[in-house]
Amino acid sequence: MEAQSRLYLELVSDIKKCTKCPLHMSRTQAVPGDGPINTEIVLVGEAPGKSEDEQGKPFVGAAGKLLDKLLEIAGLERSKVYITNVVKCRPPENREPEDNEIKACNNYLRRELSLIKPKLIVALGRIAGKTLYEMCGIRWVNINVARGRVVDCRTNNLEFKLIVTYHPAAALYNPNLRSELERDFREHIAESIRRHEKTKRKLTLEDFRL
Ligand code: SF4
Repeated sequence: MEAQSRLYLELVSDIKKCTKCPLHMSRTQAVPGDGPINTEIVLVGEAPGKSEDEQGKPFVGAAGKLLDKLLEIAGLERSKVYITNVVKCRPPENREPEDNEIKACNNYLRRELSLIKPKLIVALGRIAGKTLYEMCGIRWVNINVARGRVVDCRTNNLEFKLIVTYHPAAALYNPNLRSELERDFREHIAESIRRHEKTKRKLTLEDFRL
């Protein structure tokens, strides 16, 4: 754990001083992922927004507040999961990150995942879903096809379940999207966690009683 913590601090320091893509010119500060590195669950969003750029932490604005509620729906505490983004610096005017920026930043996401070795990753939105599908060598069609499906992923000696859902920011002002997002957390994500917890603990006689 000591070596893992040291590598994590190195990673945070590399991200904070990174100038590998043009986004470093307009940021207030880079925003590394946040949360315990001994967790089994990682959430990946798109990019920091205005509040995140100001505070240096992911998902602290209005979308972050909705994410806290969604985690609660899935029976998760925010302090028990690691939350990060595909790109670590805010794109100007909150535009989508461009392919060259996603590519330049991808090594940081890989390093985060290699350190944490998650068993479940929840991709929030199209950009995160597409990036993670491509990292795992799975063909990306669109978010409507990917959403709500649990896929087995392998990349860089890691094995994890991947679920794609909408980005909380997209659901802030769209009640239909919000109810679908809540359903994904209540059903698919909570169910994946339950299944994982079950395979982790030893079976007892109780498991065979009708
Ligand atoms: S977005 Fe990523 S690659 Fe670009 S400057 Fe920030 S940390 Fe570096």
